[in-house]
Amino acid sequence: MTETDFRTGIGFDFHRLVENRILVLGGIRIPCDKGLLGHSDADVLVHAICDALLGACGLDDIGIHFPDSDPAYRGISSLELLKKTCALVDANGFRIVNVDAVVLAETPKIMPFRREISARILQAMRAAQPRAFNLKATTTEGCGMIGRGEGIGAMATALIERRPPERDGAS
Ligand code: MG
Repeated sequence: MTETDFRTGIGFDFHRLVENRILVLGGIRIPCDKGLLGHSDADVLVHAICDALLGACGLDDIGIHFPDSDPAYRGISSLELLKKTCALVDANGFRIVNVDAVVLAETPKIMPFRREISARILQAMRAAQPRAFNLKATTTEGCGMIGRGEGIGAMATALIERRPPERDGAS
């Protein structure tokens, strides 16, 4: 009999859009007259994904593992944080089944960059299955802080599965 042990997690993040910052979403630079403000590269999408994965593992959140008070993370590519997060998932005996995410932004349009972003995320997660990551985007139809272009939000869910016990190699 095969036992399965699935866990789910959710992540949400929001960063303010400000001048004189480069906009990085999903590990790539996206042309925009503003960028997201933050201690790292402020990649709101990757932060939401990290939080979903950490939540699924029952391992607190991104602020606990990679605090913005730590100079080591100043200006760091958030893809590096995602790689460290995936290493934690692995070290705790889990593998990623899939991650689903949505970016909430009035501008710029994210969908033209969907394939490039997905490739970066899949690479950082070391996912062999292309459908292990899915990206969507929406506006808030001009309403609220996102609609006014004051910032960009992102949400993600993650499903992870406990790996089967390692065989000892004996046949
Ligand atoms: Mg963040």
